[in-house]
Amino acid sequence: MADLASMDKIVALCKRRGFIFASSEIYGGIGSTYDYGHYGVLFKQNVKNEWWRAMLSERDDIVALDSAILQHPRTWEASGHLAGFTDPMVDCRTCGQRFRADHLRDLECPRKPSKHPGEGPDCDLTEARDFNLMFETTMGPVKDSGATVYLRPETAQGIFVNFKNVLQFSRKKPPFGIAQIGKSFRNEITPGNFVFRTREFEQMEMEFFVPPGEAPQWYEHWKQARMEWYVELGLRADHLRLREHDADELSHYSSATADVEYLFPIGWSELEGVANRGDFDLKQHAEYSGEKLEYFDPQTKQRYVPHVIEPAAGADRATLAFLVDAYDEENVPGEAGTGDTPSEAQGGEQRTVLKLHPRLAPVKVAVLPLVRKDGQPEIAREIVAALRGRMQTEYDEGGSIGKRYRRQDEIGTPFCVTVDHQTLEDRSVTVRERDSLHQERVAIDELGDVLGARLAAPWRSPKLAVAP
Ligand code: ATP
Repeated sequence: MADLASMDKIVALCKRRGFIFASSEIYGGIGSTYDYGHYGVLFKQNVKNEWWRAMLSERDDIVALDSAILQHPRTWEASGHLAGFTDPMVDCRTCGQRFRADHLRDLECPRKPSKHPGEGPDCDLTEARDFNLMFETTMGPVKDSGATVYLRPETAQGIFVNFKNVLQFSRKKPPFGIAQIGKSFRNEITPGNFVFRTREFEQMEMEFFVPPGEAPQWYEHWKQARMEWYVELGLRADHLRLREHDADELSHYSSATADVEYLFPIGWSELEGVANRGDFDLKQHAEYSGEKLEYFDPQTKQRYVPHVIEPAAGADRATLAFLVDAYDEENVPGEAGTGDTPSEAQGGEQRTVLKLHPRLAPVKVAVLPLVRKDGQPEIAREIVAALRGRMQTEYDEGGSIGKRYRRQDEIGTPFCVTVDHQTLEDRSVTVRERDSLHQERVAIDELGDVLGARLAAPWRSPKLAVAP
């Protein structure tokens, strides 16, 4: 079965259901920035929580950090960003647009007939020149050069400059890691493809400090661990791959880098980078700050600068990948309780569904009274009150039950609980499962435990069963 998740469909669903929409829309939007609505916030938060879980709860050798977005400008001199964090840019003298010179073959000239920039009859491109991607701003009221600061283009440097602090208070010794989630900013020349490439985005980065001799083995470890994280959270393994960088692709600081790539609707693209950064960053910051950034091993009496393995992921890009992977359209037969008889449903009814890992789903359970009378809403609200606090729960009494199921399918809610006539007699409800559409009766008193256990159970994408 071909994948149905075109970027247009994902964007439309995100807007329709209030996951993600263009920022500042009433003013016509602003260059590729996006706002997250209720379900988008819950969903992305779940992605970040799963990352924290993998970094902090499931291991004891990583500590958390939340460093400031604005850092001392020397940070970016030391890291090499001020001199070298550039992309090659060309301008078109005819249409006035700017393009990334190394992406021309993926871009379109805005004029007709549609061609790549530089290939249209009137295109007139300048020579490529380097454009620094850091956003500049001024700190304090006086706009002079001494007060120029930068919005951080990555969270990693906040970790390196805090190495000494963390080493002292955490009482860790290499191998150990420092993990951080936060906003980063890059003045991308050609942002696009929805939240794949934006100018403001969130990163999930971890710097793992190791004795130099252990760097190669930890590099292998983290490549593997990060691939497994995506698979465990439901991304289909055949839509994921690890691509080792060629020598000419490596950044100045890296001796080895691999990208975790996902088969997005735009083709195979980077989801996360895993890099062996060696001792570059700590040595640079030691030189520029005058502080010693090293570890003294009291057992061997040796002093050394740890090497660093870095898995660097994007929270928005990961959220997009999970959305794309979960998106499905299918024909479903008439469902019990919806009033659809099999003959009415002949040929099936079309539904759009997000087959998300239950742990990532923004809402875990929707409680739906079949009718808005006979005491059913009251019981449904009682159930919501009991479940709320244990899992993200939503109450919905608006529209036919079939419509309400479809609404929950579109936001990926794994379970719908329906209160009906029988509930009033025996205090049981129907639990309907999103992917299989299987329905069963469960006693209200057992509902929290039953759903809790199912949400915690291992899960694999039902799309795998139908994949070619
Ligand atoms: P790309 O090659 O796509 O520009 P990169 O190699 O520059 O990415 P890194 O500096 O390694 O990216 O950043 C780590 C992660 O941060 C990326 O794998 C991606 O998930 C995320 N990321 C980077 N730039 C952006 C952006 N402009 N918008 C959204 N996410 C981004």
